[in-house]
Amino acid sequence: MKKLNLLTCALIAAMPLSSMADSSSSSSKIPDWKLAEASEVWTPVPAVVTANKNTAPSDAIVLFDGKSLSQWQGAEGGEAKWTVKNGAFTVAPKTGDIKTKESFCDVQLHVEWMTPTKITGDDGKTLEGQGRSNSGIFLQEQYEVQVLDSYNNKTYPNGQAGSVYKQHIPLVNPTRAPGVWQEYDIIFTAPTFSDDKKLTKPGSVTVLLNGVLVQNNIQIQGATAWIGKPVYSAHGCAPIRLQDHGNPVSFRNIWVRKL
Ligand code: MG
Repeated sequence: MKKLNLLTCALIAAMPLSSMADSSSSSSKIPDWKLAEASEVWTPVPAVVTANKNTAPSDAIVLFDGKSLSQWQGAEGGEAKWTVKNGAFTVAPKTGDIKTKESFCDVQLHVEWMTPTKITGDDGKTLEGQGRSNSGIFLQEQYEVQVLDSYNNKTYPNGQAGSVYKQHIPLVNPTRAPGVWQEYDIIFTAPTFSDDKKLTKPGSVTVLLNGVLVQNNIQIQGATAWIGKPVYSAHGCAPIRLQDHGNPVSFRNIWVRKL
């Protein structure tokens, strides 16, 4: 008995003051559960999205399902000429960039890509730097998230995989070896422009590479430029463009959600 009493005392001592006050003053005060209701928000109710593993969420637009490039076209119009095989498509060097038929503004974008295991050129020499399995994902055709074999391949860090090309160095380098599939998850907020074509808000982007954060809501400085500084020029929603940099980089499982 004595033990039980001690236990009861200990439990009472451990009770939060609020619950003690509730029981002692329930007749005169609004009960806590009623006060708590005041900060409950019941609308809007989020739409239900089915999120299966390794496939697009149910509300995504599938841009490549492993079978055809029907959602894509050449950068200058016409057919997308890259090669579809074994559930993936591969840059056909010198056929040019390809871009989505549809235009996008703010998006969540998922892209899987793989660089070839062969890292030597026709002359037998090891390809290095920007010359080793280079491609890119151009958001709104303007802002490049770099695709490059950055596994044991030295280059300028603001041009390696995970960079916003020539603008932002990735936080870390989580790239996998050539021949292994890699994943980009990109959350992009498009820049906005006034009616007289002035920049009103720069774009921003968050990038995860293989599930690891490499760009944390960074501000985009303008259209990607190889030479010189990036500069904005007014535009509206625009396609997603993939770069033909002359290297047979492969892609699969591409989907996008409009935000
Ligand atoms: Mg590139």
